[in-house]
Formats: sequence, structure tokens, C-alpha cells
Amino acid sequence: MKKQISAFLATGLMATGILAPVEAQDWDKVEIKVQELRGGMYALYGSGGNLGVSVGEDGVILVDDQYAPLTDKIKAAIAGISDAPIRYVINTHFHGDHTGGNENLGDAAVIVAHDNVRQRMSEGAFVKAFNMKMDPQPDVALPAITFNAEMSLHMNGQDTRIIHVKNAHTDGDSIIHFRGANVIHMGDLMFNGMFPFIDVPNGGDVDGILKGLDLAIAAADDETMVIPGHGMVTNKAGLVTYRNTLADLRGIIEKLKAEGKTLEEVKAMSPFKDYEGKLVQFMDGWANEVAGFIYQSL
Ligand SMILES: [Zn+2]
Repeated sequence: MKKQISAFLATGLMATGILAPVEAQDWDKVEIKVQELRGGMYALYGSGGNLGVSVGEDGVILVDDQYAPLTDKIKAAIAGISDAPIRYVINTHFHGDHTGGNENLGDAAVIVAHDNVRQRMSEGAFVKAFNMKMDPQPDVALPAITFNAEMSLHMNGQDTRIIHVKNAHTDGDSIIHFRGANVIHMGDLMFNGMFPFIDVPNGGDVDGILKGLDLAIAAADDETMVIPGHGMVTNKAGLVTYRNTLADLRGIIEKLKAEGKTLEEVKAMSPFKDYEGKLVQFMDGWANEVAGFIYQSL
């Protein structure tokens, strides 16, 4: 079942915006692409959430791990960068397209995430927007170290700050700031060039996403490289653009809600039609679903 959720999220979240059925997810065809950033850091793209990799003399830190069937390919891509073992895996949140590889990596690496990630993965979860059930995960796949606000890793000659953002994409999101390399991994607080997904039943809230984006913007300078959860690596200007777009979408819904429109009435109006040519929708009608997520958040 877990593979199904994962596949669904993967196909749904690919930049093509084409939602293929689960059976169409052909893992053999997925290629892990490596983009060098700086300071021993890389972004890896495959199927699912983008990976962040820090390599150095102390070993490898991996941010998110996509899907279990891709672990061998991800390991091979990392081996092409560094001989060192993966020592830490940081999960930005619980969704299966970011944590599916945990079960293969949790024996050798220490998995780190916010308290609520461990809780949702251990209890099992339901992602209503995709009608997907995530079964309770085995111990090996669960984060072994959890935190409730912030923590740091001191490895590879840099301080890596892991910062929880309350109620944003879910209730367990973290953004990861590799201070030495000046790289920030946003997790699913950022869908670069796409309409967002806000998992409201699992604690998501549009205002939390905006707060997280503001936090990242404040921490960034003009040299900062930004890894979004989905979409291509960008920079501070990209963060600002995305933040302002999301604020615009929020403003549209806030106004309609203040006018007394119901959720169904708002969706029926296609309130984001002016944005549909600019932002990728990862399935037909997704823009209206996003209107619903924002409406429910406010
Ligand atoms: Zn997600």
C-alpha cells in the first residue's frame, strides 16, 4: 500500500504535471540526476521529493530519500560523488515521496525528523487529497532522533540547522539550512513553478507556509541556493517570487471567503484561472483543489 501512495504522489508531483496511474510508475525508467551546488553540496532529482546531499570528510548527510525501489539508484548516484557512508538522513516531512527509502537506509544511517514525522509514520496516516492510506511503518524506517523545534548537525566543516516550521505543508515540516555551503532545502514548503499542495487534514496551513518562506528569505542572501521539495533549484529571488504568488492566491480566497462564499462556490468559480498558465498543475482541476486547501486554512 505504501508503494502505491508513494507512486501516486510521485507521478502527481512530477514537473510534467501529468498524473499517471500508479501502475505507470516504472521505477526502471527513473534516472537520478545530480546537480552540483557548492561546498560539497548537491541536489538530486529522481521521482518524488528532491534530495539534498552534503558530502565531506565526516560522511554524507542526505535530505529525504524518495521511494524504496529507488534506494539503490540513489546510493549509486551518491557513490559517484563520495566514497563516504550515508550517516544521517533528514526527513523534511512524513509524505511517502520523501520518506519511502527510510526502510532501506535506517539500519546504517541515523534518521532525523520532527517529532510529528515519527508519530505519523509509526501510527500510519491518510492523505485525503490523494485518497491515499499510509500504513504504519516498521521501526527501521522511523526517525531515530526527533526534535520539537530546532536542532543542528555539526559535520563536514559546517553547521547544519534543521528548523521546524509549525503547521505549514503538514504539521511536521522542517527546512534545512546548510550554513557553510549557503544552501537551504525547503522540503514541500516550496513547489517551484507549481501550484502548492497543502495537506490540511495532516496539519497543513497556508499561513504556516508563508511564515516558513519568510524565515528562509530572511536567512538567505543573494548567493543562497535553494532546493525546493519539487521543481528546480532556485535562489533567494525565486523564494520571494514563490512567496508573493502564494500570498496572492491566499488573498484571492480570503476576499471570497469574507464575501460569504462557500467552499463549493469558490471552487466552482475557478478563482486561480489567471495563474493556470503560469504555474504547473499536477493533475486536472488541481488549482481548484489548492483553492480548497487555502479556504480550509483560513
Ligand atoms: Zn509533501
